[in-house]
Amino acid sequence: MTTSPDPASKPVDTYRLRLPGPIAVPERVRQAIARPVLSHRGPEFRQIWARTIEMLQPLAGTTQPVHVLATSGTGVMEAALLNIVTPGDRLLIVNNGQWGERFATIGKVMGAVIDTIDADWGETVAPDVIEKRLGAHDYRALIVVHNESSTGVVGDLEAAGRLVRNRPTLLVTDTVSGLGGMDVQMDAWGVDVLVSGSQKALMCPPGLGVIAASEKAWDVIRRDNGQPRFFFDLRKARDSFDKGESTFTPAISLVYGLETALSMIHEEGLANVFSRYRRLARGLKAGAKAIGLQNFAKAPAQSNTVACFHVPEGLDGTRLIRRLNEKHRTIIAGARNRLQGKMIRLGTMGAIDEGDILTDLLHIEDVLAELGHGFERGAAVAAAASAFRSA
Ligand SMILES: *Cc1c(COP(=O)(O)O)cnc(C)c1O
Repeated sequence: MTTSPDPASKPVDTYRLRLPGPIAVPERVRQAIARPVLSHRGPEFRQIWARTIEMLQPLAGTTQPVHVLATSGTGVMEAALLNIVTPGDRLLIVNNGQWGERFATIGKVMGAVIDTIDADWGETVAPDVIEKRLGAHDYRALIVVHNESSTGVVGDLEAAGRLVRNRPTLLVTDTVSGLGGMDVQMDAWGVDVLVSGSQKALMCPPGLGVIAASEKAWDVIRRDNGQPRFFFDLRKARDSFDKGESTFTPAISLVYGLETALSMIHEEGLANVFSRYRRLARGLKAGAKAIGLQNFAKAPAQSNTVACFHVPEGLDGTRLIRRLNEKHRTIIAGARNRLQGKMIRLGTMGAIDEGDILTDLLHIEDVLAELGHGFERGAAVAAAASAFRSA
């Protein structure tokens, strides 16, 4: 295994994008994106737009309109709060990771009063704790991140939905790294505003935000809430939805990609996609554990789309990540927060299989050995292979 000091000079076809997002885009999706640009008001594109929305609805478990906006995940997080928050409204935010924190920051910008339920990163918050806090004020919204990509913890949306069902409070959730990769039942669970993005389990490049709202949420969205809304005014998106269009010029090429990615997901079958991710996550975690990489999430509900591991004591996670790129072109994530250097993260989303996970572990073993970490060579690959066999 050779070493080059400058990974940027290597050809991209050896590049293994193994982040928890953006993820490696399947070739079929890349080809779809390369198709000629159509008129976004013409019959050809209208069909693609309609099919894309139709295929998104079952992923979200909703019969409500699903809106696709040209923006990143953060854009639809902002859109969610912009459309429901009147300055002075109170928001209750489950804060056990980076994305809960970001919602608090956005809420502040909207002039909301922010109450957080703080838990250690990697932990979850029990529904009865949330319930107690909900009773203290008339909250405009309860915000629970579905799949906390900074820790690998899954929030209990079903329980959260039960808590707000008989209150005016809306349940807002970020399922940017969940939608398409794990079960979401927006209507059945009582999720009021759901946001997601294209670059994770939806298997597309970054650039599309997905947002849907319940009838209960639409009653709030339709009011004049004293916020300056224009591009992100969901009332406009809804009017256009009723005409089978996008309000503004959609990101046409990315929509081609999303249509194809959704076709791939439905061809495989949602349940099969979920179980493949479960199997991949199980194998990756078993392999990592065998060489001393402890799983970061302590909560019982753990993500099958994002795996987070503690970097063993005495090792520098940033160096591990850099060497994986330099030696193997395997690109994994660290933490861009208080855990920087102490955590590594990998995605288990997209058109990947057991072989990809075994390769990840082979490369991680090689670099850990180089960095002087003591472990039995081959143990990770063997443990993962064994987990795959028994899954
Ligand atoms: C990736 C991600 C986002 C969105 O990030 P952008 O960089 O704005 O696309 C939001 N929430 C979660 C949980 C994520 O994993």
